Amino acid sequence: MKKCYFCGVVLSENNQAVEHVIPNSFGGRLKSKDILCKECNSILGTTVDAKLYSDFKFFDILMNIKKDRETKNNFVKANINDTEIKLSKGLRYHSAPNISVETEGSGIKIKGVMIASADNKEAQDILYKNFFNKIKKHGFNGSIDDMKNSMVERIVPSDKWIELDRIFNLDAIVLGYLKVAIGFCSYHGKLDLIDEKILDTFRKAAKDKNSSEDINLILDNTSFIEQKYFYDGRLCNRLSLVGDKDNHKLYAVVGICDIFHFAIVLNDNYSSDNFEEKYIYDVINQKEIDFNMPSYNDIASCRKNNKSLFDVVKENSENNIKYIMSFFCVFDLCFFTDLALKYILHAVLSYDEKMDSASFEKKFIDDFCALRVSNEQLRFLSDEEFGKLAKMSYEFYSSNFDYFLVCLRKVYEGFKVQNSSFHNFLIDDNLFDEEIVSFVKRTIKNSKKDKLDELLKKIKS
Ligand SMILES: [Zn+2]
Repeated sequence: MKKCYFCGVVLSENNQAVEHVIPNSFGGRLKSKDILCKECNSILGTTVDAKLYSDFKFFDILMNIKKDRETKNNFVKANINDTEIKLSKGLRYHSAPNISVETEGSGIKIKGVMIASADNKEAQDILYKNFFNKIKKHGFNGSIDDMKNSMVERIVPSDKWIELDRIFNLDAIVLGYLKVAIGFCSYHGKLDLIDEKILDTFRKAAKDKNSSEDINLILDNTSFIEQKYFYDGRLCNRLSLVGDKDNHKLYAVVGICDIFHFAIVLNDNYSSDNFEEKYIYDVINQKEIDFNMPSYNDIASCRKNNKSLFDVVKENSENNIKYIMSFFCVFDLCFFTDLALKYILHAVLSYDEKMDSASFEKKFIDDFCALRVSNEQLRFLSDEEFGKLAKMSYEFYSSNFDYFLVCLRKVYEGFKVQNSSFHNFLIDDNLFDEEIVSFVKRTIKNSKKDKLDELLKKIKS
C-alpha cells in the first residue's frame, strides 16, 4: 500500500499523479505514480519546483533542455558590455537596437548597434526597420535595400561573455534539492529510513508559497560538493542515495544538470544495511550513463572548512557556471579542424595497418570523449556529433591512408612513436611541426576542396 509522503493519504487510481523525481523542466525523466497524491503534487509544484526553476531558468535557456512538454517564449535578461539583451532558447540572443545620431564635420552620422547571433534574422530585421525609420527622418530617400547595401557593418559579432546578475535564493534551492532526494527515496521504497524530523521540516517549509519556515535543520545537514568530483565531460542529472552503516548516515547526493551538487544527510543515526541507489542521466545526449559518485569521505572533505553553506556556494558558483557555459561556447573552429586532422595523422602514424571503419570510429569517439573532460573547447559537440565527425574523418583517413603513410614516413624517417596516445600527442606540439601540418593541409585543400572546413558545417547542421 503506497502512501503520499507529503500528506499521508493512501494512493489509489483516483488520486495518483505522475511525479518526476527531478522536475521535468530540468530534463528529469525518472517518474512514478507512487510518490505523491494529485493535490500534493500540484502544491509542491508551485511552492518548491517553481521557485527552484526561477533560480535556474537561465541554465534551462542556455542548455535548451529537452523535456516532455515545451514552454513557449522563454527568455532571461542578461548583459553584454552594458547592453541589455534577451537570451532565448538555444542561445539565440539579441539586444534592443541602440540608434544614435552624431554630427561629424558638417554632416551627420547615424549609428545603429545591436548584438545578435548571426542566425537571428528576426532580431536583425528589427534593427533594419528601426534604423530605416530613423534615417528617413533625416532625409534618406532610398529603399530599405539601398540602406542595407550602404551600411558599413551589418552585424556586430558577439563573442563576449554574457554577464548575469543572478541572485540565488539558497533556501529555495536547497528545499528543491531535498524534494528530489525525498522523491528518490520514495521511488526506491525507502521512505521509512529518513529521519522524521527532516521530513517534518520539509513538510512545514514546503506547505505554502510564501512560507518563511525555519529550515536551518536542513541547511545544517546539507553540504556543497565541488564540481571537480563530477568532471566527465557531460552535463547530467545525478542522483545517489546511500545507506552508510560505518558512518551512520543515510544521505543523498543530488546534482541538477550539474549546476550545483549538494549532499543532504537524511538520517544522522542510520544503522541498517549498506546500499547505494544511483541514477545518472546525460541531459544533452539524452541517455542514462554510469558514473562513480563521490564517497562520504569526499563529501566530508568538501565540508572541512567551517564556512557557511551560503559562502561556499557563493565562492564556487562562478566556476560552476563557467563549466556549464563551456558546453555552449564555440571557441575556435580552426582549432577543431586542426585537431581532427591531427587525429587522422596520429591514427596513420600509430597503426601500420589501416583500421576498419568500426575500430577507427570507436577509437575516435573514445579519445575525443575523454579529451572533452579536460579540454573545454571540445564540449560544444555532443556524442552524436562526434559520431558524425568520426564517420567523415574515417572516409578521409581511409581514402588517403597510403598517401599519408608515404609522406609521413619520409619526413619522419627513423622516428618512432613510442607509447603515444592521442593525449600525449596533443600535449606535444612538436610531434608534427608546422611544416608537415601545413603540407598535409595543402594536400587536403587541393584534393578535397576544403573538405575539413565543410565537415564542421555539416556536423553542426
Ligand atoms: Zn498528498
